Amino acid sequence: IKILAIESSCDETAAAVVENGRKVLSNVISTQIDIHTLYGGVVPEIASRKHLERINQVVKEALKQASVTLEDIDAVAVTYGPGLVGALLVGTAEAKAIAYAAGKPLVGVHHIEGHIAANYIENQDLEPPFMCLIVSGGHTHLVVVEDYDKFNIIGRTRDDAAGEAFDKVARSIGLGYPGGPKIDKAAKLGNPDAITFPKAKMSDNPYDFSFSGLKSAVLNYLNHAKMTGEEVNPNDLAASFQKAVVQVLVEHAIRGTKEHGFRKLALAGGVASNSALRASLKEACEKNGITLYYPSPIFCTDNAAMIGAAGYYEYKKGRRSGWDLNAAASLKLGER
Ligand code: ATP
Ligand code: MG
Ligand code: FE
Repeated sequence: IKILAIESSCDETAAAVVENGRKVLSNVISTQIDIHTLYGGVVPEIASRKHLERINQVVKEALKQASVTLEDIDAVAVTYGPGLVGALLVGTAEAKAIAYAAGKPLVGVHHIEGHIAANYIENQDLEPPFMCLIVSGGHTHLVVVEDYDKFNIIGRTRDDAAGEAFDKVARSIGLGYPGGPKIDKAAKLGNPDAITFPKAKMSDNPYDFSFSGLKSAVLNYLNHAKMTGEEVNPNDLAASFQKAVVQVLVEHAIRGTKEHGFRKLALAGGVASNSALRASLKEACEKNGITLYYPSPIFCTDNAAMIGAAGYYEYKKGRRSGWDLNAAASLKLGER
């Protein structure tokens, strides 16, 4: 089964061809980072316009690189939520037009289900059930992946997502957008024990996360330094902030995995690229007899191959979307 997949939920225009959910025949990503960097973040109207300009070429390129034509495709999968509504509309319209014209079934995919499925691409042996920590620009979820299309969220952020916290803190230190990779890099040159930041604890759900207090603590630290004229070492600040985020993520993920009796933990989303998170989680998993899975960086960030992987399993379960498939900006994981 070959799936043509399309992803346009944020600022990456992407298309891919994936065979049987695990073999990537092509994975084309046209990123808009250079444009949005000028504004310090994603500008929705510009994102939609750029998707529109690029999507036809990106799809064509994905088919070409996979050496297939639309005839060889069994279904068209597309991200229909969550994300920026104008951006999602470009992808869904494109997918509907292609599927309709080629007489192929259409499968709407949840973006986060895609991030989770990115783990299947390079880990041929990974099958549900397992625990998954999703850390992206808009989500921070600890999820029991019960089946390919069945999810139980046991922990979530109460405020900012992990990636959002990275981006906001990076902006306040003057590192620019997107902040995650910049903080990751700066932190390598800094001392993670230079500044102690508070850790938020949720008494009613020990698996939940909160990052806004940490973000405020960083801002307070910066303001205080400005007032007293103390010098701020941005590398130390980045390293200390990153350490605080990573500590909480690792603690909750390991605890959740153990308490739910799993021996497999997967990492997903853009922040899954973070080198400190990977290293710290690897160490904790080894200590606790847990096998850790994570995608290569190219499959962590937004891409269409992960949508093709998720789309394949949805297709196999008989899921089909109608021609009335609409963008769903705030679609919940597991919701149809
Ligand atoms: P969502 O998937 O929740 O809809 P999104 O698609 O915008 O949001 P992703 O593309 O999954 O998010 O991830 C982007 C986020 O990952 C950004 O916040 C970015 O700063 C962060 N990120 C990327 N690389 C790293 C890194 N090395 N360290 C920390 N954060 C990172
Ligand atoms: Mg992006
Ligand atoms: Fe994403």
